[in-house]
Amino acid sequence: AAQEGFDPEEVEGALGEAGHGPLPVLAVVGRPNVGKSTLVNRIIGRREAVVQDKPGVTRDRVSYEAEWAGRRFKVVDTGGWEQDVLGLDASVAAQAEYAIETADAVVFVVDSTVGATDTDEAVVKLLRRAGKPVVLCANKVDGQSGEADATALWSLGLGEPYPVSSLHGRGTGDMLDAVLEALPDAPAQKFGTALGGPRRIALIGRPNVGKSSLLNKVAGEDRVVVNELAGTTRDPVDELINLGGITWKFIDTAGIRRRVHLQEGADYYASLRTAAAVEKAEVAVVLIDSSESISVQDQRIITMAVEAGRAIVVAFNKWDTLDEERRYYLEREIETELAQIAWAPRVNVSAVTGRHMEKLVPAIETALEGWETRVPTGRLNAFLGEIVASNPHPIRGGKQPRILFGTQAGTKPPRFVLFSSGFLEHGYRRFVERRLREEFGFEGTPIHISVRVRE
Ligand code: GDP
Ligand code: GDP
Repeated sequence: AAQEGFDPEEVEGALGEAGHGPLPVLAVVGRPNVGKSTLVNRIIGRREAVVQDKPGVTRDRVSYEAEWAGRRFKVVDTGGWEQDVLGLDASVAAQAEYAIETADAVVFVVDSTVGATDTDEAVVKLLRRAGKPVVLCANKVDGQSGEADATALWSLGLGEPYPVSSLHGRGTGDMLDAVLEALPDAPAQKFGTALGGPRRIALIGRPNVGKSSLLNKVAGEDRVVVNELAGTTRDPVDELINLGGITWKFIDTAGIRRRVHLQEGADYYASLRTAAAVEKAEVAVVLIDSSESISVQDQRIITMAVEAGRAIVVAFNKWDTLDEERRYYLEREIETELAQIAWAPRVNVSAVTGRHMEKLVPAIETALEGWETRVPTGRLNAFLGEIVASNPHPIRGGKQPRILFGTQAGTKPPRFVLFSSGFLEHGYRRFVERRLREEFGFEGTPIHISVRVRE
């Protein structure tokens, strides 16, 4: 294997290409000053320094595209995390946490001239628990004499330490060969879309709410002839439909159109089919028959979409049938029965008259936007700081748990990791979620918040 670093021009050329699917993600993790940023620069073959000599410089994670031995992947630099806020250990733990949540493989960088510290050992524990493949980079081995320091890092129990000089490029080739072995071909992130492909919609709801009527209404004359759309492949049960000038992929329309009547287990099959459609979709449009009371079955279908982490729009169908009285009761029912998705955009439509069909697309777009929103770490922490100051957690048993730091670990749907000094009560988490929504939007998307208590 090659012993040199990268040829910058070769990498530059590779970066110029476009039109590929999602790439596997490699996170580079380690204590401050071990050389993470230097290594990332080396991997992406770029000289202009992201390296900061000032410790504790705040910058957000940055992700770059890279290529090695003909394979492309993304590299995420976790350098510069806010150690001042949390202290060293927790800031490094936050990086590891992030890597665990989002990366397909991790390069763990250790300064071999310093050796394994307690902080390094703590990160190893986190990484091992996560079960993601880890490649151990014994950095700052600038020459032969440093090899022994690298060997000492076998003690971390992460397998072979790769002796590397990120500064000079020594040993990076062998290390990257190991990285390629650890990386899967495609990212594990389930919710990713292929670049430029049509967005995927699942139209769901219990029988007779009007799914097939709505589909026929929106598909109308605007049916897309699939062969005309270059480079699209589709599942025969899915359908490409033009709405508001945009082509969307409606999932499992065959299941909606052909109403298979199964005597036994019909509900079971319907719900299985719904689950499969939701799994394949990015956004779920939940149809509700507004002429009838909101039922347990409606709620079960909504829960399915929420738990799958999809963007959600609620369409109240058969609006043409409503009188004043029913409308009044419906509003009350929505408040009590649909509280769990109070954040979802709502449209009141009629598949029969075509009422408000034009509002469907903007609602879907709003939901997808919320689903993909990313809050920069700096902004998030400024906001969390305000919350802690203005609405501290109630004191419990003489102690007051405090949010120390937070980061958004992912999107589609947005996922947050909060680090706290103690257990945060359910009510307080709910409060934080509500304030997050008020501050940053997230209309139409579930959000996940997990809390790690720093012992
Ligand atoms: P980070 O905080 O982990 O991102 O570390 P940096 O990439 O900012 O590097 C910290 C310092 O270590 C900088 O002064 C780098 O020039 C230096 N450094 C990084 N890699 C090496 C290496 O392989 N050998 C030597 N001698 N110094 C290195
Ligand atoms: P699906 O089982 O969810 O696909 O529901 P269908 O589309 O088959 O609709 C069930 C029944 O509701 C049919 O008789 C439709 O004509 C009727 N329906 C659907 N949408 C509307 C609507 O907006 N207004 C009214 N009045 N009836 C509707």
